[in-house]
Amino acid sequence: MPARILNGNAIRDEIYAELAGEIAALRAAGIRPGLAAVLVGDNPASKLYVKSKIAACEKLGLASFLLTPPATITTRELLAVVAELNCREDVDGILVQMPLPPPVDAKKILDSVLPEKDVDGYNPVNVGKLVAGRPNLVACTPAGVMEIFKRSGIGLEGTNAAVLGRSDIVGKPMALLLMHANATVTVCHSKTRNLPEVTRRADIVVAAMGRAAMVTPDFIRPGATVIDVGQNVITDAAQAAKIFANFPERLESFRAKGNILVGDVHPDVANVAGALTPVPGGVGPLTIAMLMSNTVKAARLRRGSPKPAAAAVRP
Ligand code: NAP
Repeated sequence: MPARILNGNAIRDEIYAELAGEIAALRAAGIRPGLAAVLVGDNPASKLYVKSKIAACEKLGLASFLLTPPATITTRELLAVVAELNCREDVDGILVQMPLPPPVDAKKILDSVLPEKDVDGYNPVNVGKLVAGRPNLVACTPAGVMEIFKRSGIGLEGTNAAVLGRSDIVGKPMALLLMHANATVTVCHSKTRNLPEVTRRADIVVAAMGRAAMVTPDFIRPGATVIDVGQNVITDAAQAAKIFANFPERLESFRAKGNILVGDVHPDVANVAGALTPVPGGVGPLTIAMLMSNTVKAARLRRGSPKPAAAAVRP
């Protein structure tokens, strides 16, 4: 039986509908949550990501502030930009779009974002709170994956979960969130031996490696839930033909555009998994939704606003 497809767009819409109530309560109290995006240089992918984030703010009625320093900016100058945003009352969330041009010390910049405004959840203070089981602002992509589990009725307690990837922004926080949800977690990485053997023992597989279609059906225990975080653009016709051999429409789309977005999970996994997030339309929409959610939460916590309607209160 083909896997149940976990529709990230529908879950995003649900979250937006809840956020709308919370935003209305804040607006009624004279508070308009605001997100500042710092986009350094002109990396086309970064521009596109930031554009989607600003569009989401507009859709929800959040204030957004776009700062676009040139690629020649120094670490010191960028620290000054963040320092100013840290002080602004109308800015609740600060996101510095990665990657930064190489001479800039990215870690220093991320560490300088005030923890209360760190809506990406990258600041060591917020990471530490997550480790301690007292999450506050949590990295958006793993937080979005947890929303998928919760809103799709997929229980985690007592399950075996395999997280493929150990990056600071996806793999590590994902593993911590799953552990706090009482899953037994195995974190895999490029040095893991016999990866398919490890993943075949898992009830839950979260793939976040940046390796196009690497997770093939033999990695998956029949009925397992598979979350595909990977976003890989492929341009090679032979590779596309191999991955989408059973998906003529996707192959047609590749031929028309010359490229296609592929997850880390091979599409044939749909024949084995019990549930699966598609790419596109799975985890991706949740990342932006959680950025919006974190911005609203940061506004509520920092500006000490009155509690929103009971139904809309989140932890
Ligand atoms: P990253 O920083 O490059 O980390 C990749 C991780 O995967 C590393 O821990 C690496 O292991 C591991 N890895 C690489 N090749 C492997 C292999 N052959 N076998 C086992 N593990 C392997 O990437 P990231 O920032 O976490 O992103 C991962 C993917 O998620 C990318 O495709 C990215 O585009 C996507 N992503 C999507 C969203 C979204 O909104 N959907 C958001 C963020 C990221 P080592 O540590 O040993 O090097």
